[in-house]
Amino acid sequence: MPKVTAISGVGVKGPACFLYEAGECRLLLDLGRGPDADRLPDIDGIGRIDAVLFSHGHADHTGGLVLWDAIGRPPLFATRPTSALSLHPELKDASPLERLSEIDGISVECGPCGHAPGAVWIRLGGETGFVYTGDISLESTLFRSSLPPRAAALVFDTSYGRADTSLAEQKAAIDAAIEQPVLFPSPAGGRGLEMALHFLSRGLGVSICPAHRQVAETLLSHEKWLTDGGRLMLENLLSKAGRLEEDSAPDGVMIAAGPNAERGVAKVLAERMTADGRGQVIFTGHLAAGEPAEAMVNAGTARFMRWNVHPRLSEQARLIEAVSARQALAAFCGLEAVGDLVSATGWPIVPGVVMEW
Ligand SMILES: [Zn+2]
Repeated sequence: MPKVTAISGVGVKGPACFLYEAGECRLLLDLGRGPDADRLPDIDGIGRIDAVLFSHGHADHTGGLVLWDAIGRPPLFATRPTSALSLHPELKDASPLERLSEIDGISVECGPCGHAPGAVWIRLGGETGFVYTGDISLESTLFRSSLPPRAAALVFDTSYGRADTSLAEQKAAIDAAIEQPVLFPSPAGGRGLEMALHFLSRGLGVSICPAHRQVAETLLSHEKWLTDGGRLMLENLLSKAGRLEEDSAPDGVMIAAGPNAERGVAKVLAERMTADGRGQVIFTGHLAAGEPAEAMVNAGTARFMRWNVHPRLSEQARLIEAVSARQALAAFCGLEAVGDLVSATGWPIVPGVVMEW
């Protein structure tokens, strides 16, 4: 019987790592680290791994590559944009996941999932097999997305639990709240470029840090992963957005990495703006434990306003319907949120961390 075990990623906002077993085939889906406290999956006794398939490049899905030796250095698969943008040398050399159609007799399919550059859902074993959504979002205006096909079992992204505010509503709330100069610390390989595009479309002066510029330039060579018109939007952004550096004077709307002001231009600017008491800092993603973002929001020197990059409740419902799985694991949120989902929806979410079918 095929089997999926959440080594990590169920019952907690923890690093993604799922073990798929069917016949002799043993695959890992993602091998992450963090996002809180640099947590790593517990791979003790995990046994032979035939390959690791990565859904996207974020650290909480790839940072566990430090364990690659410990799991026997199996072949790695990632989509081309994920490899092109990765800082891990091993992932840069990964085989293209979108070209993989079968491994050890198990069919492999993937499709764009709108969460990040080159991010995908993955189906293993066809209609009687298993779908892993990774992180997924159907609201992106820049990254192409698609619903995964049917499968018997599903691991799906429930990062936001029952929250159902749309990205359009969030954009309106942010538009109403900003007072320039305003800094948005953002992941360059995530929502940062979309945010820059949004503010540009509102006629605001926008500047982006070198990390964002580099991602935008790289994505121009991966057009099929973008929405229709995505390439034009990025070209427009690259020509119109100002250059934001560590020593730039705060001005207009500033988009800079990293997302928790833990590194890069965002760290330097956020520290300076806070010290000078000049301008707003708004965080829009997960506030990682122990990072500057959490401390700044708690101290009242920065705000948190969410920008969806995971599925809200009504999108989770679309996923559940599209895949029509007999059983599912709710991933990337705490146990209490899983319990809330089960009682509110009646979806076939199973307790524990194992599915067999
Ligand atoms: Zn992600």
